[in-house]
Amino acid sequence: MQDQYTLDDREDQVVLRTAWEQAVGKLECELPETVIKKFLRPLEPVSLEGGVAVLNAPGQFIQEWVKEKYLETILVALSSEIEGVKRIELRVQPRERPETQVETAVISRQPLSIDPTPEFKSTGRYRFENFVVGQSNRLAFAGAKAVAAQPGVKYNPLFLYGSSGLGKTHLMQAIAHEIHRRDNRCAVMYVTAQQFAEEFVHALQNNRIDQFRKAQRGVQVWLLDDVQFIAGKERTQEELFHTFNYLHSLGKQIVLCSDRPPRDLLLMDERLRSRFESGLVADVLMPDTETRCAILLTKAQQDDIELSHDVAMFVAEAIPSNVRILEGALTKIAAEASLEEGAVTLELARSIVERYYQNVGTTKPSFEQILDSVGKHYQIPVIEIRGISRKAPIAHARHVAVFITREITGDSWKHIGALFGNRDHTSMMHGYRKIRELMNRDKEVNASVKLLIRDLYPEV
Ligand code: ADP
Ligand code: MG
Repeated sequence: MQDQYTLDDREDQVVLRTAWEQAVGKLECELPETVIKKFLRPLEPVSLEGGVAVLNAPGQFIQEWVKEKYLETILVALSSEIEGVKRIELRVQPRERPETQVETAVISRQPLSIDPTPEFKSTGRYRFENFVVGQSNRLAFAGAKAVAAQPGVKYNPLFLYGSSGLGKTHLMQAIAHEIHRRDNRCAVMYVTAQQFAEEFVHALQNNRIDQFRKAQRGVQVWLLDDVQFIAGKERTQEELFHTFNYLHSLGKQIVLCSDRPPRDLLLMDERLRSRFESGLVADVLMPDTETRCAILLTKAQQDDIELSHDVAMFVAEAIPSNVRILEGALTKIAAEASLEEGAVTLELARSIVERYYQNVGTTKPSFEQILDSVGKHYQIPVIEIRGISRKAPIAHARHVAVFITREITGDSWKHIGALFGNRDHTSMMHGYRKIRELMNRDKEVNASVKLLIRDLYPEV
């Protein structure tokens, strides 16, 4: 709870910092450059409470000089950016070292002057023109088009969600591609949440947090893919929270993707979840058979594969799965056809579907997969989970594995007991009940178990 409180606290700071940046930006037109550089830039906004904005000055000289000459000007500029500022209090506080600055989120103005070359390198593969629109993705598509047409105007943020392989990344990249095509100076950044997290940690370790922030915050359009990856990573979430607020308060366009809706990002901080929901939230569902067929025909045309409507329809019907798998099937069929120097016939398609795609979308995860996921999640070797140790963390992981196995396979207690090394069926039932009870009263346990189950079904 302490962390939530801290985050809470900082929202205020972000608002103040953003307003401060804007105010100084405006004063640049009114005051000499040296004054800005020597006296105003070194000031650090700290807090805003009861109408008093507190700014830290790095030394007494600057504090007194500003107090004497510029306090009134600053007050006017700041109160035009943010409501309710009645007074400014200047404190003396030497600048902190980089590691500790991280705690108080320094937002520098530099982002606006960084190299405007966009981070986004378009491959051109994912465009709006080669995205097939159907009932399953209509809203997401419309939202993406609107955002690409006028970034930062209509839906901000745009939040797309849906299972893996249904076209979320395609739509995001299409937005980036379209904006970039119209104006190649527009700074567009596409980043996966995993990259964001890794680069953030790297920046922290190497005292390069300012550069990291400059890069993330100096953009016009910020696209963050697979945001669910950050759930549960508190420090990274906090950084994301600040990045989000910073960009949003300046009217920059934000687009996010996730495998589930904001409300189901259980390990995500509530404040982030509500921000994600504040614009347009659109789902991307499994396309129906006709749309799947149209997607196959589009892909075939793109890759110069001769595919008849009948064969496309057969594959679309036979593989009721996500588009990525469907594409894989098309590639396989085309490769086989070219190996045999023949056409893509219905027979060929049928034999490949029978050989490789019989159970796609219907198979349950195996017991080994369950143990493996649970082990990875709790960082406990599988052998320990199947072992007899009664140490609390190991027993807990074992009970979770029992719970998930029962939920997913529906196997008898006896059978599950056998899987766990010939255990008595009552101890299996006991483990199951324990987790069910825990899930009712402990949000964290509830979230972890649900995430684990969910992640065991990547294709659903
Ligand atoms: P996600 O990000 O949702 O996991 P992707 O955007 O990576 O999925 O899509 C997987 C593949 O399926 C990509 O090659 C993409 O081009 C393709 N795809 C998904 N939906 C469509 C669609 N409606 N039209 C054309 N291609 C699609
Ligand atoms: Mg994706």
